[in-house]
Amino acid sequence: SKNQSGQPAQQDARFSFEFFPPRTEVGAEKLMRVHGELAELSPDFFSVTYGAGGSTKDGTRQTVNAIREKGSDVAPHLSFGGSPQHEIDALLQHYIEQGINRLVALRGDIPSGTGAVSRYYYANELIEHVRKTTGDHFHIEVACYPEIHPQSDSYESDLYFFKKKVEAGANSAITQYFFNVDAYFYFRDACQAAGIDIPIVPGIMPITNYANLQRFSNNCGAEIPRWIRQRLTSYGDDTDSIRQFGADMVTSLCEKLLEGGAPGLHFYSMNQTEPVRQIWTNLDLSRRS
Ligand code: FAD
Repeated sequence: SKNQSGQPAQQDARFSFEFFPPRTEVGAEKLMRVHGELAELSPDFFSVTYGAGGSTKDGTRQTVNAIREKGSDVAPHLSFGGSPQHEIDALLQHYIEQGINRLVALRGDIPSGTGAVSRYYYANELIEHVRKTTGDHFHIEVACYPEIHPQSDSYESDLYFFKKKVEAGANSAITQYFFNVDAYFYFRDACQAAGIDIPIVPGIMPITNYANLQRFSNNCGAEIPRWIRQRLTSYGDDTDSIRQFGADMVTSLCEKLLEGGAPGLHFYSMNQTEPVRQIWTNLDLSRRS
């Protein structure tokens, strides 16, 4: 189902927007406004992170509920973190009752959820648990890393463990963000050669703030190519120029990905409307439906 270069996005390409749970009342109100604005773009679903950046697990459930009440499809992110199994089971049951049928299953980072844990539960272990307890109810998304997870021993071992997640029952994958488009295509082909046959949807990070982007990228092992760093540095405090350059550069990245047959795009919205909407408009994605 690969596209020839120059063709429009695949008919069945899927688009999703990620939120993190707000930490304040004001943040929660703002997020519901952003959700309303982004819902107008008719994404296939929203997703809500879990325990990331010190946010609470309750925050994920509450945000998921709020989005669900507005009638959108939403995929909660989930990891074992330090939770006892019965808590995870109760959460899964709650989601099933809410009519939720998609999850993003992760190992998570430490500190995840409420704090330090004695050992990591790898994502494949969580998937096995979800499949064992809830059968085929959920469409399970997993994370993958075109530039390779920072804790991996090698390119091969990261593929090996990615494949384990597919064998455990993952249905599709969302990538960590990247700016090197070739890293994605090389990774996709390497996955295919390794027998990983699920859709691999690029995760897209809009650029709005250079300091934040540097911090995230250092943590998650996403490379900011030198020319982009130089460009962003040269804008200093000129936020408008940073956003304009970011929108143009990320639009071009998305175009190449869709032309090259990427099965959709997942946007890390950072709980903001404008950066995503700008790229969306540039890509002329409103016409897809
Ligand atoms: P895994 O797939 O378990 O892999 C983790 C590392 O261990 C890799 O290096 C892998 O090669 C290796 N490995 C995997 N399985 C095994 C095994 N069985 N034995 C030995 N080694 C193994 N973080 C959050 O805290 N909350 C979120 O909501 C969140 N959402 C995310 C969404 C996306 C799309 C992405 C790309 C990342 C997200 N993250 C989130 C970050 C993620 O939790 C981290 O990248 C984390 O370090 C790895 O999670 P994983 O599920 O990919 O781990």
